[in-house]
Amino acid sequence: MRMPRLVTRLITLAFVASLAACSTVGTPGVKNTSKTFTTVVVDAGHGGKDSGAYRRYGPPEKMVALDVAQRLEKKLRESQIKTVMTRDSDVFIPLNDRVAIENKQKSAVFVSIHFNDSRKRRARGFETYYHSGASFDLANRIQQKLMTIPNSSNGGVHTANFRVLRLADCPAVLVECGYLSNRSEGNQARDWEYRELLADRIAEAVVEQRYGSGVYRPSPEIAAQLRPPPGPANSNITPSGSR
Ligand SMILES: [Zn+2]
Repeated sequence: MRMPRLVTRLITLAFVASLAACSTVGTPGVKNTSKTFTTVVVDAGHGGKDSGAYRRYGPPEKMVALDVAQRLEKKLRESQIKTVMTRDSDVFIPLNDRVAIENKQKSAVFVSIHFNDSRKRRARGFETYYHSGASFDLANRIQQKLMTIPNSSNGGVHTANFRVLRLADCPAVLVECGYLSNRSEGNQARDWEYRELLADRIAEAVVEQRYGSGVYRPSPEIAAQLRPPPGPANSNITPSGSR
């Protein structure tokens, strides 16, 4: 009688443990580290033979995605957050290798940087994607911060089955930083100051997700760009170039 009782107890314990693990997260197997993470895995989309979205009049997606990812990584490090990059140069990294890097971290969130493309040249706007419920807060926060960029267009927060999101053990999001196929957003993506702004907005979202609001400090140049336009009281001041 002893063995079966022990087995029953173990099964009960395992069942209770699995319930506890699922109580806060919709997707089994995903650790909800969205408020406790120590590391951010920064993933620059595409690379090497995979150019991503490509337009004849500008750098391919793989280049601008890497640049935003590198700027984001630097800002996170400056905010005392550990970082891991899936690539730091123009190399091809298979999706499964990216998943392996994200799942090797003990306490992480994963942020993938992409730019969008469409045959409809009017398509524009930021979009943020997630898969597990544990990733929603971070996705939503990133989208909200991107929307503080003047004249930005909201493409919304959506679920997606992208492999780097679906197979992640940790909260994971994928950010589409605008459409290279759109004249206005494509021009902006070619401007390093604008890419710096994108990186800053995403960094603030990540830091706020971990440490709460008011902790992240954007550079004075960034803060000036995000300031609302002068009201009637300041109308004698000529607004400097609206970007
Ligand atoms: Zn892409």
